Amino acid sequence: MIEISHLTKQYGRTTVVDDVSFTARPGRVTGLLGPNGAGKSTTLRVLLGLTAATSGTATVDGRRYRDLAQPLRTVGALLDGAGAVPERRGVDHLRWVARTHRIPRRRVEEVLELVGLAGARTTRVRAYSLGMGQRLGIATALLGDPQVLVLDEPTNGLDPAGIRWVRTLVQDLAAQGRTVLVSSHQMAEVAEVADDLVIIDRGRVVRQGPLEDVVAGHGSLEEAFFAALGGLR
Ligand code: ADP
Repeated sequence: MIEISHLTKQYGRTTVVDDVSFTARPGRVTGLLGPNGAGKSTTLRVLLGLTAATSGTATVDGRRYRDLAQPLRTVGALLDGAGAVPERRGVDHLRWVARTHRIPRRRVEEVLELVGLAGARTTRVRAYSLGMGQRLGIATALLGDPQVLVLDEPTNGLDPAGIRWVRTLVQDLAAQGRTVLVSSHQMAEVAEVADDLVIIDRGRVVRQGPLEDVVAGHGSLEEAFFAALGGLR
């Protein structure tokens, strides 16, 4: 389970995440929704130990990322694409990550199949399309077979078939009992996959709860979203 508690992040005098609290639970897809610049990535970066919180906490199974004994087997993450060296072949990138985290080599072949990159396994990462890069990033996130997944804008750069594939994958992962936190600025996409929603704007949570509760009385997620944002302005 993911727990964000009273998380605040300031850059200089600017507060980009402001007292954010929410929980993402096993067996459910939690959608972190907000306009560009709302603070979604910053929240996820703190959760993944890539930047320090100014105050508050972000934990996976009750521990901060840096205190996890086996981080890649505990939480898989997609942030800003795959983060692979462009000159590497896709398969070599995954083998390198597997080796450094003591993950069996055969798991590399499994995730390549799972994300549909088996045919492009020996292509160099620099020759990958944006969508293939996203698939490689998702493969990396899945490598340790973690119970918790954090995916920042996973459908960026994907074509309609790819978007559909991510949707099915995300729902399958939750159906297997995993905790899945997905950020997006695209309402339609979140409405399709999320069981629970956290809407953030200008660093603050403006609405959260099960998707049907958030939408109730508004007719659509889009109406609910703008009603939530309008409440602040
Ligand atoms: P989102 O993911 O919702 O689009 P971000 O978390 O990326 O939003 O950004 C939130 C705000 O924090 C933005 O205004 C962004 O410019 C600012 N920000 C992000 N990273 C930094 C940084 N390293 N230094 C200063 N400001 C930053």
